[in-house]
Amino acid sequence: MSEAFEVVVVGAGPAGCAAAYTLAKAGIEVLLIERSKFAGGKNVTGGVLYGSVLNVLIPEFWKEAPVERRVQRHVISMLSEKSSVSIDFNTDNSAHPETAGYTILRAKFDRWFAQKVEEAGGMVITGSRADDLILEDDRVAGIVAGGDKIAAKVVIAADGVNSLLADKAGLGVSLEPGNVNQGVKEVIKLPRETIEERFNVTSEGGAAMHFLGFCTRGVHGGGFLYTNQDSLSVGVVVQLKALVNSKLKAVELLDSFKQHPAVRELVKGGTPVEYSAHLVPAGGLRMLPQLYTDGMLVTGDAAALVLATGRALEGLNFALASGVAAAETVKMAKEKGDYSQQTLSHYVKLLSESFVLQDLVRFYGAPQFLENPRLYGIYPELACALAEKVFEVDGNPKRTVWQLARDEMRGKVSFWQLIRDAMAARRTL
Ligand SMILES: Cc1cc2nc3c(=O)[nH]c(=O)nc-3n(C[C@H](O)[C@H](O)[C@H](O)COP(=O)(O)OP(=O)(O)OC[C@H]3O[C@@H](n4cnc5c(N)ncnc54)[C@H](O)[C@@H]3O)c2cc1C
Repeated sequence: MSEAFEVVVVGAGPAGCAAAYTLAKAGIEVLLIERSKFAGGKNVTGGVLYGSVLNVLIPEFWKEAPVERRVQRHVISMLSEKSSVSIDFNTDNSAHPETAGYTILRAKFDRWFAQKVEEAGGMVITGSRADDLILEDDRVAGIVAGGDKIAAKVVIAADGVNSLLADKAGLGVSLEPGNVNQGVKEVIKLPRETIEERFNVTSEGGAAMHFLGFCTRGVHGGGFLYTNQDSLSVGVVVQLKALVNSKLKAVELLDSFKQHPAVRELVKGGTPVEYSAHLVPAGGLRMLPQLYTDGMLVTGDAAALVLATGRALEGLNFALASGVAAAETVKMAKEKGDYSQQTLSHYVKLLSESFVLQDLVRFYGAPQFLENPRLYGIYPELACALAEKVFEVDGNPKRTVWQLARDEMRGKVSFWQLIRDAMAARRTL
C-alpha cells in the first residue's frame, strides 16, 4: 500500500505533537505516526513541564490538559548517607499560571496532546512504527511503516533519543556513555489528602524536589520526587559512563534513594504502580547533530535538544519549541514550494532566535562542569556535616560557622579548590 501526505511527523511525544498540531492548525495535511498503542504509552519524564511554550500553542492549556499539580514548592536537597540539607522555596504562583511548572504523567498528557492534533485536523496513527525512510535522489521523500510506503514532501523526525530516522538520514546523534544519562522512575500511588498533608501543598499545588549526593551514592547524577494528584513520581537520573564505572545498577540506586531518611517518610505506605527507564541526551550543544537535510527536520530528543545544567533537566519545553519551529519552517517551505536543505535551514535560524539554542549556547560548559565528582560526594557530605555541627549543642564553647566549615573541609577539599569550583558553578549554573 502507498499513501501520500504533505508532512509526516514520526513520534507523538511533545516534539511530534507540537509540530503536528501547529501544521494541522495551519491547514497543512499532516500525518502523526506513533509506535505505541496510544500516544505516551511508553514515554518517560520526571516530570515537570513549564507552561510558557505550550501556553502560546494552546492558551490556558492547564484548564483542559491532564496536568497533575501546579508546582508551588521547589526543594533542592543535598544528601549524605543519613542526613540532608535543603533549600525549600514556596510560592503562591496562582496569578502566573503560564510560567509555572506542572507535574505531568506522560500516558495521560501525550494522549491528550495527540487528541488535540486530531481535533485540529491532523491524522494520527498509533501502534505503527516507522522502520525506514524513502530516499529519492538523495532526498527524504517519505517513510516506510509496517511495510507501507508513505510519501511526504517533508518528514519531521520526533522519534526521541536514539532516533532511527535521524540515523538513517545521516543526522543521528552520536550517543556515548559520557553524553547520555540513564533515568529510572517509579510512580507510587498515595491518597491525595496524604500527599497534600505530607508535602504541605494545596489541593491544586504540588512539590518538585531535587536531590544531589547520596541519592546516587556519589555517582554523577541526581534524584527527583514530584507530586501528582494521587501519586508520586520518584526517580534517579545518572550519567551512563559514571554508572558503568560505579558497577552499580540504576535500579539499586533508586531503591536506596527511596530508603534514605529524607525520602523514606515521604513515600511511606505508597504502592508502586509503574516502573520505567529511559535515556536522556545530556551532552548539550557539543552533541547537536545537523538538524535538517533535503526533505527532513529533526526535533526534540532525536536532535539532543535537552538542557542539563544541574539546576534543571529540561527536555519537554525544548521538544515543544523545536517541534513548533520545525512546523513553522515547513509552513515557510510550503509557501516557497521548496523543501530543499537550503530552505529548511530556516529551522536553525528560528531555534537560534528562541531559548532553545540560546540556552544551549549559554550553558555550553555545563556538561563539563557536571563531571566534577565533588558535586556528588564531598560537597553534599560537607554541607550535611556542617549543618550537623551548627545545630549541635554539646556543652562546649561554641565555634563560628566559618571555624566549623574550616574544620570540616580539612583534608577533604582546599579553600582554593572550593573557590575554583564556585567560580565554575557561577559560569554554568
Ligand atoms: C527519567 C526522566 C526524567 C525527565 N524529567 C524531565 C522533566 O522533569 N522535565 C523536562 O522538561 N524533561 C524531562 N525529561 C526529558 C524529557 O522527557 C524529554 O526531553 C522529552 O520527552 C523529549 O520529547 P520528544 O518528543 O523529543 O521525545 P519522546 O518524548 O521520547 O517521544 C518520542 C516518541 O516517538 C515515538 N517513536 C520512537 N520511535 C518511533 C518510530 N520508529 N516510529 C513511530 N514512533 C516512534 C515514541 O514512542 C515516543 O512517543 C526527563 C527524561 C527522563 C528519562
